[in-house]
Amino acid sequence: MEYSLLTICYLIASITFILGLKMLSNPASARKGNQIAAIGMAIAIFGTIFLYEGKDIKLGNYLWIFGGIAIGTIIGAFAAKKVKMTDMPQMVSLFNGMGGACAAIISIVEFNHLMHDHSIGNSFLSDINGTNLLIIMAGLIIGSVSFTGSMIAWAKLDGRLHDYSFKGQHLVNIFLLLAAIGLSTFVLLSRPEQTILFFYIILGLSVMYGILFVMPIGGADMPVVISLLNSFTGVAAACGGFLYDNKAMMTGGILVGAAGTLLTMLMCKAMNRSLTNVLIGSFGGNAASAAASGGSQGQYKQISLSDTAVLMSYSSKVVIVPGYGLAVAQAQHACHELEKLLTEKGVQVTYAIHPVAGRMPGHMNVLLAEADVSYEKLKEMEEVNDEFPYVDAVLVLGANDVVNPAAKTDPTSPIYGMPILDVELAKHVIVNKRSMKPGYAGIENDLFFRPKTSMLFGDSKKVIQDLIAEIKNL
Ligand code: NDP
Repeated sequence: MEYSLLTICYLIASITFILGLKMLSNPASARKGNQIAAIGMAIAIFGTIFLYEGKDIKLGNYLWIFGGIAIGTIIGAFAAKKVKMTDMPQMVSLFNGMGGACAAIISIVEFNHLMHDHSIGNSFLSDINGTNLLIIMAGLIIGSVSFTGSMIAWAKLDGRLHDYSFKGQHLVNIFLLLAAIGLSTFVLLSRPEQTILFFYIILGLSVMYGILFVMPIGGADMPVVISLLNSFTGVAAACGGFLYDNKAMMTGGILVGAAGTLLTMLMCKAMNRSLTNVLIGSFGGNAASAAASGGSQGQYKQISLSDTAVLMSYSSKVVIVPGYGLAVAQAQHACHELEKLLTEKGVQVTYAIHPVAGRMPGHMNVLLAEADVSYEKLKEMEEVNDEFPYVDAVLVLGANDVVNPAAKTDPTSPIYGMPILDVELAKHVIVNKRSMKPGYAGIENDLFFRPKTSMLFGDSKKVIQDLIAEIKNL
């Protein structure tokens, strides 16, 4: 009776995960989707705690379980409430890393159980537990890579760590990965009493690999790595679900793994990168190549607020390019107001969304949705790039790398090969940022020195608010 009720709980949870994921693909329904999936997760967790009855085990340890849940809930809720929109990518990385750590810990615990249950003298593989051990090893490697990789990604996104690489790092990465897989095969074929040390060596190798594979990655490649780590955590969680024969955990893990893998592939395509290179950590901007493509590019010109107001108001087509700086300034609401004002004046306004603008996949979509910008106004890169030659004025708001022509022209640049928004094809380009400082990739931007470009310095929110006032006074 209890078992079938638990199965129904898992079924409900699985359905809510699928529904939630589907709803997350549209900013209008994303919030609700998240809530629905969270309810499903709560049903699965409490169903497991109260209804689970294994062959020889019944759950106990309620103090530990509810103590853990209470601490996790308080920290999670507090962190989510307190986090600034600009720090959201770091939080996503942290949470993702925690998922990887859980999967790795499950593997460690279950390995010890297996050691106790196993009949001495036989190899693991010759025993019925062989499949379980295979899953344990997969969960250990993938989970710990995801944990350490996500921690490094968090530190880099938070500006605490910079890209780091050394000569021959790709070879070291390949060695670590092959050694972890090779030793896992050895563990599978060996007798348990021979394997404990190797199990922990594999853990160490995976931890090292996670660190070394994310350390050198920078420039245009962090978004790909972040979604890849996300898919790793999903797969590692699915391994846990398989071990415990827990359908909800398995479905959740598979969904995250599959969605993360698809996102990684789409990101690779959008960024013109190959997945093999991501896995051995061989591409991306390191400090040396970033410095190589730096250097002052000459004179830039500035534009006043009043001239910008006139240009915008008398244009027939304006494209706004939002970037990370817009999120930093929290200028999304002011930006929407500007768009509405120009539209009232008969100007056709759209937004050009680059797939990696900001600091997390979909960052600009989320930011603009928060300000109720209509979804139809957002144009994807491929679509809008064909339109730039017919655009009167482009207003770049806190974007830098995603409009840097070096991605097309400078093979030494860390962003070389990444498709960019071809804003320089428009009749006028106005770039709003606070200074001439570089963006995430740490490189100069030749766009700022081009004849059609004018710089409008200042914090995005203040500049847009002043621009709105100027336009109203025209
Ligand atoms: P960039 O980081 O290239 O540039 C942002 C610019 O915003 C900076 O040059 C900065 O210049 C300006 N800025 C900062 N604060 C303000 C402010 N308050 N007002 C006005 N301007 C401001 O951003 P992009 O969006 O163009 O590119 C994203 C970069 O991040 C890419 O390199 C991408 O690969 C990387 N990345 C993306 C991830 C993703 O998933 N989307 C994840 C990780 C990395 P100044 O200081 O002079 O104001």
